[in-house]
This record gives sequence, structure tokens and C-alpha cells, in this order.
Amino acid sequence: MADLVQSYLDRIVAEHAATAEGALADYIPELAGVDPRGFGLSLSSGDGYVYETGDADIEFTIQSVSKPFTYALALDQIGEAAVDARIGVEPSGEAFNEISVDDVTKVPKNPMINAGAIAAVSLIPGASPDARFALIRDFYSACAGRQLPLDEAVYRSEKATGSRNRAIAYMLDSFDVLDGDPDEILDVYYRQCSLRVTSTDLARMGATLARAGVNPFTGRRVTNAAVVRRTLSVMLTCGMYDAAGDWVSAVGMPAKSGVGGGIVAVLPGQLGIGVYSPLLDAKGNSVRGVAVCRSLSAQLGLHFLSVPLQARSTLRASYDVRDGVRVYEIHGDLLFAGAEQVLRMARQQSGEFSAAILDVSRVDDINGAARTMLAGLGAMLQAAGKRGFLVDPDGAVVSPGSPAQAVTFTTVDDAVAAAEAWLFGR
Ligand code: GLU
Repeated sequence: MADLVQSYLDRIVAEHAATAEGALADYIPELAGVDPRGFGLSLSSGDGYVYETGDADIEFTIQSVSKPFTYALALDQIGEAAVDARIGVEPSGEAFNEISVDDVTKVPKNPMINAGAIAAVSLIPGASPDARFALIRDFYSACAGRQLPLDEAVYRSEKATGSRNRAIAYMLDSFDVLDGDPDEILDVYYRQCSLRVTSTDLARMGATLARAGVNPFTGRRVTNAAVVRRTLSVMLTCGMYDAAGDWVSAVGMPAKSGVGGGIVAVLPGQLGIGVYSPLLDAKGNSVRGVAVCRSLSAQLGLHFLSVPLQARSTLRASYDVRDGVRVYEIHGDLLFAGAEQVLRMARQQSGEFSAAILDVSRVDDINGAARTMLAGLGAMLQAAGKRGFLVDPDGAVVSPGSPAQAVTFTTVDDAVAAAEAWLFGR
């Protein structure tokens, strides 16, 4: 049977392959000498299935696509407060290699520009540069699902030509932002930029972020959801050099690009996308990479701020089983807005019933806010002289041991029987 997704991706890469605009990064010979025609696209689903098209097996250096991952590792290792003390989260509107810190706080404006990325390296624990780098490489590799190799030649060139980065590191040192020796930190930074990846590695790394820190391919939890949320936030606002606003508007996915030609894009909860094409636009983003992501977003509806039609409202049905006993069936994912709807409805209609049965057996997922709100519904009804009963066979709302278990049932019939017993006993 034909694979529609695969043929779609093949077609979209073919459509953009003719574009030959842009220029190779030329600050080191290794980047200036790559084949400009290279073009690979990989897409990882949230459950770890990867589609590959074009040159998905070409290895290139990760360069600045490394930045969000080292930032995530720093958050993971030392916590948000300690990281925030050294690196801001404001878009800078400056070139990635600007020698600058925030006017007031004197720390780098965000972790996606070199100053912030170098500061992030300095926050990675390790007794030596080798130990720090090992931790970084292992973290990226865990996200990619394979051990990423180091490009020695690129590393040597980065190190030999890195005056600008040295200037940044010494400036940071002068403001006491760096934890450690500037030259040692830079050495680790150059190595991190010189790790080799394919578009598939980037798709998998993106999917690990999309899955809130679990690599869907290996099943391994690499970091936690709070770290990922913060990382995606700065990718969204600062990830695409100083074209972040344009990117968010047109593509609408947190992303990061690098001068090696790579882009990683993340659709939270759903997808990781990796693209490789080394011809860069004036801002340093891969021309074909950006173009293909724009097309994918528009054609597949991937913009994360697309407002979905309220196709499935939280309330599936409501009906009276007998006089005074009303059943509310709710379904789908229950978050704050859905729970608010349920509470409001129960309040507005409370003159019409004595007992309400809330059937949550079809709820797929529920978050903490919604759980707390629904748990409060029982008390709210009771205060009004009414009673709430819950049908919650999977324990989505009421956890074992909670007092609400007394009014929690496995089936609607059981809840109705309890509601009737309460009515007669009144
Ligand atoms: N190694 C490069 C630098 O720090 C990375 C540049 C990039 O990809 O933005 O200058």
C-alpha cells in the first residue's frame, strides 16, 4: 500500500530542491567546502516513527542547533533559578554573535545567542572540560538515540578562528557570568558546535522535546517536562537568529537553526522535524530549510497557534435519568477551559436537578488544574443542598484514598442507584 505521508514529503523536498539561493557559511574552510546541493528532511512522529527524504543520511555539524540542548541540560542539572541568574530569556534583536549583555542585569539576553550559549556551557557541571563535554555529548546523543560523533576538523577550525567568541567569553568573564576558565569553556563550546548530526538525528532530538523529554524512539526519559517547556519557550522567541518573529508568524513552531545548515523544529506533543540544506540566507538560516518548513506548516496545518474549531466540546451529552437526577457525559482532554465549562454549566443548571452525575469515563487526559476544579464540584453542590456523583472507572479525577471515593463509581448505573438512594433517604 502506498505511503501517503512518505510520498508527500518526497514531493515537497523535490519542489524546493531547485532553489539554489543563499550562500555557504564561509568563516571556516570545512563549512565553505560542503556540497551546496545537500538537502535532507526527516520527520519523527510523537511515537518515534521517522520519515526520511532526500539526503537524510548526510552528516553535518550541529553548530547553533546545539544551543537549546545545552540550555536544557543546564536547566536539568542545576535548576531554573540558578540558570536564570546567569542567562536571560529576552529576544535580543541582535546578531547571534553580538558582544553584548543585558544593560541592566549584565547577563546574556538569552541562551540562543553565542553569549548565552557560552554561559550555558559554563553552567554544565564537570571537573574538567572533558567531563563537561562528555555530559553534553551524552545528553544530545540520548535525545538523538545514537552516539553523535565529533568532527575534529571543524572543531580545530572553530577553535583557530574563534576571536569573536573569545571576545564574548572574556567579556562575560569580566561581568562574573562564567563559571570557570573562559578558554576551557570555549573549548567545550567549540566541541559542542562540532558534533555531527543528520536531519534524522535532529528530527529525533526535536521529537524528544515534542514528547516533553522522552525520546519516543528509545523510550528513555532524557529530561523533564518543565525543562522542555522552558527550552521550547526560548526557541520560540529567540531560536531563528534575528528572524524569530518572521519564523513564528509563518511557521509557528519552536525551532533552532545553525550555520551548518540544520534546522530543528518542534510541534509540542506531536512532531519533531529536522532539515538540512547548507545554503544560508543573510540572517544565517538555511534557505531551503526555512522554505520547506513554511510549506509543511501551511500545508499540514502545523502552526501551533492555529486556533482549532471547537469540534469536540467537553460536554458530550446530558440527560435526566429520572426526575431530579441529571447525567453529564464529558470527553476528550480536560484542561482548565473544559473544566470551567463543566463547572459553569452545573452552576447554571443547578435549579433543574437535585443530584448530578458526572461521567468522566471517556476523558482521555486531564491536567492538575481541571482535576482540582472537578474535585471542588462535589463540595459546591453539597453547599447548595445537592449531591454530585462521579463515574470514574480509571481514577482520572479521584485518586484512591481520596474522600471523594465515597461518591465515585465504575458505571453510570451504580452512580444512578447511589443517587436514588440518596434522594429517597433525604
Ligand atoms: N560555531 C559557530 C559560532 O559560535 C556557530 C554559529 C552558528 O551556528 O550560529 O560562531
